[in-house]
Amino acid sequence: MTTTIIGFPRIGEHRELKFATEKYFRKEITEDEFKQITKDIRKKHWKEVEDAGIDIIPSNDFSLYDNTLDAAFLLNIVPKEIETIDLSNLDKYFALARGYQGEKGDIKALPMKKWFNTNYHYIVSKFTKDTNIKLTGTKIFDEFAEAKELGITSRPVIVGPFTLLKLSDYAEGLSAKDFAKDLTAAYKEIFTRLASFGAEWIQVDEPSLVKDLSPEDINLFKEIYSELLADKKLKVLLQTYFGDVRDIYSQLIDLDFDGIGLDLVEGPKNIELIKDNFPADKKLFAGIVNGKYIWKNNYQNSLATLEDLGVEDLVLTTSSSLLHVPYTSENEKFEPEVLEHFAFAKEKLKELKELEAILKGEGQEYLDQNKSLFAKERISKNQELATKIDGLTEADFTRLPAFAEREAIQKEVFKLPLLPTTTIGSFPQTKEVKQIRAKLKKGEVSQEEYDTFIGDQIKDWLNWQEEIGLDVLVHGEFERNDMVEYFGQNLSGYLFSQNGWVQSYGTRGVKPPIIWGDVVRERPITVKWSAYAQEQTDKIVKGMLTGPVTILNWSFPREDISLRESTLQIALAIQEEVLDLEKNGIRIIQIDEAALREKLPLRKSDWFKEYLDWAIPAFRLVHSKVDEKTQIHTHMCYSEFTDIIPAIDQLDADVISFEASRSNLDILDELKAKNFQTEVGPGVYDIHSPRIPSVEEITKTIHTILTKVPVEKVWVNPDCGLKTRGIPETRASLVNLTQAAKDVRKEY
Ligand code: GLN
Ligand code: ZN
Repeated sequence: MTTTIIGFPRIGEHRELKFATEKYFRKEITEDEFKQITKDIRKKHWKEVEDAGIDIIPSNDFSLYDNTLDAAFLLNIVPKEIETIDLSNLDKYFALARGYQGEKGDIKALPMKKWFNTNYHYIVSKFTKDTNIKLTGTKIFDEFAEAKELGITSRPVIVGPFTLLKLSDYAEGLSAKDFAKDLTAAYKEIFTRLASFGAEWIQVDEPSLVKDLSPEDINLFKEIYSELLADKKLKVLLQTYFGDVRDIYSQLIDLDFDGIGLDLVEGPKNIELIKDNFPADKKLFAGIVNGKYIWKNNYQNSLATLEDLGVEDLVLTTSSSLLHVPYTSENEKFEPEVLEHFAFAKEKLKELKELEAILKGEGQEYLDQNKSLFAKERISKNQELATKIDGLTEADFTRLPAFAEREAIQKEVFKLPLLPTTTIGSFPQTKEVKQIRAKLKKGEVSQEEYDTFIGDQIKDWLNWQEEIGLDVLVHGEFERNDMVEYFGQNLSGYLFSQNGWVQSYGTRGVKPPIIWGDVVRERPITVKWSAYAQEQTDKIVKGMLTGPVTILNWSFPREDISLRESTLQIALAIQEEVLDLEKNGIRIIQIDEAALREKLPLRKSDWFKEYLDWAIPAFRLVHSKVDEKTQIHTHMCYSEFTDIIPAIDQLDADVISFEASRSNLDILDELKAKNFQTEVGPGVYDIHSPRIPSVEEITKTIHTILTKVPVEKVWVNPDCGLKTRGIPETRASLVNLTQAAKDVRKEY
């Protein structure tokens, strides 16, 4: 028996990677300096894993931005214009990830999508008739060599060809099949070259196997791998995660893999598949330590699961890459009775070793300690809340009158122009904003000083929004550090880490709060600043809330009650806030469900019964009691709900805004086809990039939207909040946005 992990967090114990990358973007350090820092980070991480006693250490799990982009870049799957632009290789890579606008040219960022059911986002490549797949990159080899220099014969990791094909876009008339052969040949070259450098294993990540697979998918997979595995010179680990491989298990065990990695946490069905049916000539990489959540492993349960498998040759591993959990709980300041329940990435390494020791009969003390931890009563239950949730009826989830009637009433009361303009909520969180919040925390400024600062920010931005002629204003969310943490701080049952950062995309990290106990609203959360903002202007200022599903999905959830129950607790808390805002004169309330899709099961057959059947009503519970004249908006990040459009309509919001610009507005066809009722603001420009869209570009986008959605239903807005942007680009972009809306309005 041995131990390994699928991948380690890359951002660094103190987010060193983020800060270095941002310095490099700002040209404060040179390319060489930047590369040296990233090399040091990798070294530290390898040492960390090695020191914990993990037997086989992955490499190339590190990435400067995203692993999927790394694989595409390695194999020259890049847009044509990037080949000719006069930038260094590193800058070309970043140009694909985040766009480039400068003297050398203008490159749009590639689309970005959610990575399966996580809050990580990957970069989507596109295959076109110009795509010329060839092994031009060196990253995977360089990092293998780097680890070797440190005395570590690592197991290089790469996103597998099947998953790369499944996650990519294709130019019209082309599909995955057209590229499978060339791609297989290129991967084969990677295998060969790695073997010649001394690699013993390679880990090929194929998480796409846990989704529903068609017979064509299975054939494609078999076609790729029977070729790729023929005369291989190194051992191949086929790694999956986030679910089970029920559609392809029997084929997997027939192929010539040396190891198969299966998720035993999120894919309990894998356990049934493996039982008494795992080939003796392969190693089972048993994903038993949860790679996504931060609670301590329950050893007794894990041991029972492992025993159940009936497999001798086990490698103990994590259920997914540790990318999804923070680096270590060592730097946290929780009380010992709290801290002992958590295991972040570094602590999970220890758990693997302890489980191994127990299995080898050398770890009785670990088992005893773990048993007593789980035997303790952690929290005392809020019985009143449980009773309230049990007593909810259909009426609690239903807003009246129905949408169509409300829409007419609201058009009458709000009298907004055609194609009303608005933004998603936040304005740039500049250094000054972050600094003063940090100072408040340290007691270096008083609450009054802080409030004056925030109040002035709000006033300035309200004035400016009026000046440029936006129709529905926002206060800018300057008082919020984060759209979930800010709410959690006013809810009971929440805990916050100091340094629990997890990568969301590229240089962007999030610090998910921890749901520790039962959740109730302890005090009004947003009323003060929303009411203040509304007092400053005659225009309507939207109230801004985070919805219950998103609060849940962007927190580390409890494992001792169901997600449904936890979400309903949060929904009741946010319902109080909605009604409070309404009472205080807020007439439009946006309830963000940025992360609604996040926990959507990966298999369609599970969508409703395991998720949407409670998640959608939870949102309705929040707004079901508001007046017909109060307009409820919602916002979703990423337009990946093409396939759940009817469910989105059932949120029964009055208006929804969503990302669209970076996904080619594909969703519009579906909105039309499904006769979508809710008014919509498909984002007209990409806020994830500093690029400024021109009036012409935005006008064109609005025109495209209007070919699919009736003009009375269309709102004009950016595709997400603007907190990560700088002020100049934000203002320039919004000036162009309002101008474009005004121009198009004239056509009616
Ligand atoms: N209202 C939030 C903001 O503007 C929404 C953020 C999000 O969708 N991620 O920042
Ligand atoms: Zn968003």
